[in-house]
Amino acid sequence: MKISRELSRQCAQILEKSLIWDNHGCMPIPISGKEPVLEQLQRYRDGGVDVAMINIGDAEISLEEHFRTAAAVRHWVESHPEDYVLAQSVQAIRDAKVAGRLAVGFDIEGARVIGDQLSLISLFYAIGVRWMLVAYNRNNLVGGGCHDDDCGLTEFGRAVMDEMDRVGMVKCCAHTGYRTAMEVLERSPLPVIFSHSNPRSLKDHPRNVPDDLMLACAKTGGVMGINGVGIFLGDNDISIDTVLRHIDYAVNLMGPEHVGIGLDYVFDQVTLNQELEKNPGIWPAELGYGPGIKFLAPEMLAELAEGMLSLGYSEVVIRGILGENFLRVAQQVWK
Ligand SMILES: [Zn+2]
Repeated sequence: MKISRELSRQCAQILEKSLIWDNHGCMPIPISGKEPVLEQLQRYRDGGVDVAMINIGDAEISLEEHFRTAAAVRHWVESHPEDYVLAQSVQAIRDAKVAGRLAVGFDIEGARVIGDQLSLISLFYAIGVRWMLVAYNRNNLVGGGCHDDDCGLTEFGRAVMDEMDRVGMVKCCAHTGYRTAMEVLERSPLPVIFSHSNPRSLKDHPRNVPDDLMLACAKTGGVMGINGVGIFLGDNDISIDTVLRHIDYAVNLMGPEHVGIGLDYVFDQVTLNQELEKNPGIWPAELGYGPGIKFLAPEMLAELAEGMLSLGYSEVVIRGILGENFLRVAQQVWK
């Protein structure tokens, strides 16, 4: 683990024992070239991360690019078995922690990519996708996005939710509209997550989550992963103190067993800035989307843990937030 400053002995001991799970990060998409070098994954190892969930697509990324990206990452992981393993099961994750490997799982940002084809869900699960969010900012055939006129969960959407439960893919309501999210949460027999979302009470942004949805998520047994995106934390503010305020708010409202970390670190920020400017319908500039958004890097997780200690959190609570809460959801939902 490479960290930017000396940690307290107590914090270092807790980190040593903790399973550290970053529930969302963004690799460059598509990953192209015959033999791409995925040095980004080493950044998670440097940050002491044990499980990294990374997206294979978002917004309007094509079905082909989802599969190409998944194939490239799977190939890299399988070619470097001393350092990496696919996060296909809870047991694989536990074994990886013991062996000092990084477990890599996939997520999909928005059911738009499945179009009207329900059968793609089990195929995505088979290649390593462990959570999918309902809608990415805009409406799709499943339900409404958080930056759109939310249409609610559709009849097809209800079938998609049931199919995700059947195959073991975790349902996520980040980026999703309020009405759709509430309908997903209220009908779910299994834990539902907000993979990478922050409390709206601390920063009034439609991408952030109001208290009643946070409580409904906790009621399913789910977890909300606090992200490290400056414009969702505050005024493009990624200070550790600000991230801790968001964590502490969620802990007090939902209970510590319902809070996790999903940093949403974007590795290729040059491409991100181009995409943000090209697609104002998906990322409206008036909501703060544009060049210069700051992201908290995975190397800062140790400092977050130190900060949680200074808030007076117990070791059990810190370990839960750092990863064991998301592991519990995986245990309940994955097949
Ligand atoms: Zn996202």
